[in-house]
Amino acid sequence: MSTRHGVDVAVIGGGAAGLSAAVTLARSLRSVVVVDGGEPRNAPAAGAHNVLGHEGIAPRDLLTAGRAEADRYGARFHDGRAVAARHCEGAFEVDLDDGGTLRARRILLATGLVDELPDVPGVRDLWGTDVLHCPYCHGWEVRGRRIGVLGTSELSLHQALMFRQLSEHVTLFTHTMGSPEDQAWEQMAALDVQVVEGPVRMLSTEGGRLRAVVLAEGHAFPVDAVAVAPRFTARTDLYEQLGGAAADHPMGSFIATGPMGRTDVEGVWAAGNAADLSAMVSVSTGAGVAAAAAINADLVAQDARAAVRARRAAAS
Ligand SMILES: Cc1cc2nc3c(=O)[nH]c(=O)nc-3n(C[C@H](O)[C@H](O)[C@H](O)COP(=O)(O)OP(=O)(O)OC[C@H]3O[C@@H](n4cnc5c(N)ncnc54)[C@H](O)[C@@H]3O)c2cc1C
Repeated sequence: MSTRHGVDVAVIGGGAAGLSAAVTLARSLRSVVVVDGGEPRNAPAAGAHNVLGHEGIAPRDLLTAGRAEADRYGARFHDGRAVAARHCEGAFEVDLDDGGTLRARRILLATGLVDELPDVPGVRDLWGTDVLHCPYCHGWEVRGRRIGVLGTSELSLHQALMFRQLSEHVTLFTHTMGSPEDQAWEQMAALDVQVVEGPVRMLSTEGGRLRAVVLAEGHAFPVDAVAVAPRFTARTDLYEQLGGAAADHPMGSFIATGPMGRTDVEGVWAAGNAADLSAMVSVSTGAGVAAAAAINADLVAQDARAAVRARRAAAS
């Protein structure tokens, strides 16, 4: 795709955040192009939960529907990656992986995040099915089952408590988090959370499903699901090329924004997991709409200033 004359908004990322922004922008008669690499974060999961009106919908079905809605209002799409972005004469240029360049007045980064998983054999293969991170996303599906929590940091203690709400059979494997402090031990004991100390060697499987957590010393603990705490790394490369800086977070890194998604870089907004590491689908959808509304208002103000200048010039 090559747009010499440019569009109002380039939306980078066509997940929940980017597509909902595209609908809002297109409904405001803004020209918008969504550039999407096609790798939504929840793709490995069978269903998306807590999505009102679409409870349990297959993640890709939700996005297919969202894309059709944006398309209906005139949004355009580039299936591929944005590989570079830069400022250009008061606007932006975005280089695409097909060699084309997109020119846009504003940019919305809805590029999501990368889940950096603990380096334990079996974790990546089962990610999104039997290896989980979010009690709201898939906790109900494993309620009452045998849930192992892979300890990698203090956050794993919190995760054990969260999953204990859903099952009486929770085991915390301390793995690399170290031994819990006295207060945490007491909490786990009071809630009947079994604590198993020592490094984990692997997750064993049978027929492609999780079977057990295997310790380095060889002992295997049968489980039905394992909760892990990934490091959440927002995709910030384009933001950094535009002069922004990724912000640190105890759970990873992200693009800091104001309430409507405005970033520190003039003309650039961010929404969804790129700006909020804990945003679920509905929150990302809402953030996309909010950012789109703010971008439209910003363009309206710019257009009004330009109209006044033109009117004065014509009068003088
Ligand atoms: C296993 C799993 C299960 C989950 N289950 C649930 C659930 O049940 N309910 C729930 O509410 N939430 C769930 N989530 C969270 C959910 O995935 C996120 O809330 C949601 O995906 C965030 O939407 P987003 O648009 O910000 O990012 P994403 O959905 O990740 O979309 C980002 C898009 O941007 C594209 N992209 C990135 N960089 C570029 C680039 N340079 N050029 C072009 N395109 C680019 C990517 O390819 C991707 O398509 C789950 C997460 C995981 C990991």
